[in-house]
Amino acid sequence: MSAPFGRLSDDDLATCVHCGLCLDACPTFRVTGLETESPRGRIYLMTQWKRGTMAFDEEQVRHIDLCLGCRTCEAVCPSGVPYGRIIEAGRADVEDARRPTPKRVTSRVALRQLVGHPTRLRAAGAVTRLAQKLHLTSIARSGRMLPQLKPPFRRPTGNVAPAIGERKHRVAFLVGCVMPILYPQSHDAAVRLLQLAGCEVWFPPGERCCGALFAHNGDLAGAERLRDANMLTYRAGGFDSLVVDSAGCGAHLKDFYPELKGRVKDLTEWLAEVGLPEPKREVKIRLTYQDACHLAHAQRIKKQPRELIRSLPGVAFVEMRHPDICCGAAGLYSTLEPEMSNRILQEKLDDMLATRADVVAVANPGCQMQLEAGLRRRGSTMKVEHIAETLLRAY
Ligand code: SF4
Ligand code: SF4
Repeated sequence: MSAPFGRLSDDDLATCVHCGLCLDACPTFRVTGLETESPRGRIYLMTQWKRGTMAFDEEQVRHIDLCLGCRTCEAVCPSGVPYGRIIEAGRADVEDARRPTPKRVTSRVALRQLVGHPTRLRAAGAVTRLAQKLHLTSIARSGRMLPQLKPPFRRPTGNVAPAIGERKHRVAFLVGCVMPILYPQSHDAAVRLLQLAGCEVWFPPGERCCGALFAHNGDLAGAERLRDANMLTYRAGGFDSLVVDSAGCGAHLKDFYPELKGRVKDLTEWLAEVGLPEPKREVKIRLTYQDACHLAHAQRIKKQPRELIRSLPGVAFVEMRHPDICCGAAGLYSTLEPEMSNRILQEKLDDMLATRADVVAVANPGCQMQLEAGLRRRGSTMKVEHIAETLLRAY
């Protein structure tokens, strides 16, 4: 470890003027009403540890653990507090300072030994798929949040999918780590939309996990190693934009890969920019949309997905109450902090079900898994799908 709390920046921490305007937007404050579970409380705590004016203690660390990293506070803060940067640096400092707990050690090992290696992850996906088929309860129970796995996403031959019609753009596409295994149909739909929009889609060979889960979990060294490896492949290919259909990954790439500055685009951001052809059919569904925190708050993208949805002929779009409040998924949070995650989820499910929608569109695999599991437990037939699948319904 370098200097204690050496990653946290004094300048970043000093931007907070303790006005409290972020409190009501913070999901953990909303359910507990506790100052210690608010952005202001957490910034105060990290400031004291950094200054050495408060002893570092494991009980207080719980307040940092319970932060979702959703960055809602950052989006509403009038003083421009860079909360995303603060919590990532704070978590890395906390992980260095604390006594490691078995749960945290397991999650770090799983990230480094599994998520960071696409081949191992694919093998784990194949085993889980088989266990689901054979109803092997021990494995199926340990992954009860998981959707029914389909065959994983396959890159096209030569790592290029051609544009449909005239080629107007060449984009790189982030395949990522868990998404091609958990939700291959989202990638299939996203790539098809890009082709329809006149994009030649390049799949960078050798690309690994972007590192978002590592950074959110306090493993900045692991995230840096992945970035260095991925930059080698990105530098080798010419592309206009790197298109990402997972909000958490997109936010991380925009913040953590300075060399890609301005070239990382969320799928909805890119499609709104380049345009889709005229829809071919009506989409007769009642639909609601859940903002992914890392799209709405970290990337400030709320308008484009709604405009794309509204452009679908026949769709009945209905907003839920608080669509931009976190669903409690937050990367590994639902596994590491299941109790708080579930409290936040229940409020979200109430808001979603009140819309009486047939479908809820999402922009992030973690949200999809969390909402599907919650709806299953409530016995609801509401379908959760990636916004790419929703848009593709019109073609
Ligand atoms: S984070 Fe921003 S909104 Fe929240 S207390 Fe600090 S300055 Fe105020
Ligand atoms: S990141 Fe989310 S959970 Fe954490 S303090 Fe900010 S609003 Fe609250």
